[in-house]
Amino acid sequence: MVDPDNQTSHLVAPVLEQLERGSGPFSSLIQQLTQIVGKNSLLYDADELLVYECDGYIVDKSAPDIVVFPTSTEQISSIVKICNQFNVPFLARGAGTSLSGGCLPIGGGVMIVLTRMKQILEINLRDRYAIVEPGMVNLHLTNALKGTGYHYAPDPSSQGSCTIGGNIATNSGGPHTLKYGVTTNHVLGLEAVLPDGSVINLGGPTAETPGYDLHGVYVGNEGTFGICTKAIVRLTRDPEAHRTMLAVFQTISDATRAISEIIAAGIIPSALEMMDQGIIQAIEEAFHFGFPLDAGAVLLIEVDGLEIALDEEARRIVEICNAHNLREIQRADTPEERLLIWKSRKQAFGAIGRLSPSYCTQDGVVPRTRLPEILEFIEATSQKYGMRIVNVFHAGDGNVHPILLFDERDQDQIQQVMEASEEILSKCLELGGSVTGEHGIGVEKINFMSRIFNETDLSQMEKVRNIFNPRQICSRDKVLPPHGEESQSAVTLSHPGRRAPH
Ligand SMILES: Cc1cc2nc3c(=O)[nH]c(=O)nc-3n(C[C@H](O)[C@H](O)[C@H](O)COP(=O)(O)OP(=O)(O)OC[C@H]3O[C@@H](n4cnc5c(N)ncnc54)[C@H](O)[C@@H]3O)c2cc1C
Repeated sequence: MVDPDNQTSHLVAPVLEQLERGSGPFSSLIQQLTQIVGKNSLLYDADELLVYECDGYIVDKSAPDIVVFPTSTEQISSIVKICNQFNVPFLARGAGTSLSGGCLPIGGGVMIVLTRMKQILEINLRDRYAIVEPGMVNLHLTNALKGTGYHYAPDPSSQGSCTIGGNIATNSGGPHTLKYGVTTNHVLGLEAVLPDGSVINLGGPTAETPGYDLHGVYVGNEGTFGICTKAIVRLTRDPEAHRTMLAVFQTISDATRAISEIIAAGIIPSALEMMDQGIIQAIEEAFHFGFPLDAGAVLLIEVDGLEIALDEEARRIVEICNAHNLREIQRADTPEERLLIWKSRKQAFGAIGRLSPSYCTQDGVVPRTRLPEILEFIEATSQKYGMRIVNVFHAGDGNVHPILLFDERDQDQIQQVMEASEEILSKCLELGGSVTGEHGIGVEKINFMSRIFNETDLSQMEKVRNIFNPRQICSRDKVLPPHGEESQSAVTLSHPGRRAPH
């Protein structure tokens, strides 16, 4: 572990600017990195770097100077040691689906892309764990487990592309986390390369390990504690049966009130997902699932468990929905119909591309009973800015994901997206919620941190980060606002958009 007493100052200047492209030290850095990964696993031409200038948070852009694609822990450790030697910042990237700018290489530096480390190293059904490399796509693990009677429970809506390493870094949730918990509840242990290049192992395949729960601390670090190179994840027994339904409501308020009451009745569905009229129309236009276009909201409700209990639970849910002006209900009678219902939800984001050139997915959370209020506020914000906002979210958790539609080529629209986002997130705080349900702070929400936490809270978090990452050479300017200086990472309302001159 890195000695926190031996820290050097925070890296503020874009270090590679000092190295200058084409200069001796820059060439020497490229040469040394090439020796580790080979010339086919390294990019540094400006046009190739464009692909990596943002993740799913497209409002802010900054390209890295070099991208490397390692294939082993040893390679990552060597890359990190070289970055330290040249005093060059670096950060990890999985699939780049982060929605809070976690992969934004502010001021440039080396981006370490994990997508070539995607092997399953072990599946142990008797002890119910799997060991995987960090670049493994979440859905590929699920697919590999099909037919074994087990699955990996965290299933972000992006699971077809996001990686287990990215899930661990952001402590991802998903539709089924209402019942099964978020990523941290399913990570037993991990291997990581620390920001000085040393390799640590935290936790292990058994449920309990002695000492501090450091792998628990590691999960959700948003890339600021080094690079996860291996994960030991818990496997969950498949439920005996499911009941999956689509409940169609006339209004959003009816649907949200039904959600509160279902949970208040002591029923914990395995999933409770809401789609509003805007998203229903987009999905329908793209995939023709047969949703009523005039419905105010559709809830995807799933209960799972022992076959014998499910009909009664489903009956009670329908009863509650009926008390809230349920318009119609569709039930999945076969596994194929269930898959189709889930496809409609998981492809919702794909459908949004038809609505506008760019979109920004916000991520707030409120107590479930305040969902009607926040949704009304989102609608009012949409009216105020004359900007279309559609909603699809894990309603059972009180998460809201308003999707703001805009055109990123228009600077005024970017400005408006940021102002509208700020207002919506502030409202979440006012209603007793928070500014992220699952996507993390990244660069996007760093300005909110000092509104949520006091100085002492923040300085304790900083101390924890400094144990792992004392020089902040890894994933710098993320999560915690720097002290005593204007944050480089905060997307200021006056300077949105592309940062880097590339
Ligand atoms: C359509 C869509 C739907 C989504 N739905 C959900 C959802 O339901 N629930 C949810 O929680 N999120 C969701 N997200 C957000 C995103 O998919 C998750 O945060 C996901 O976990 C990111 O994984 P990734 O591999 O893309 O990580 P990246 O975007 O590549 O990286 C995210 C962060 O993790 C760090 N990181 C990546 N790999 C490593 C590693 N090996 N070691 C250390 N740090 C690392 C990066 O530095 C960065 O800070 C969604 C995104 C999209 C675009």
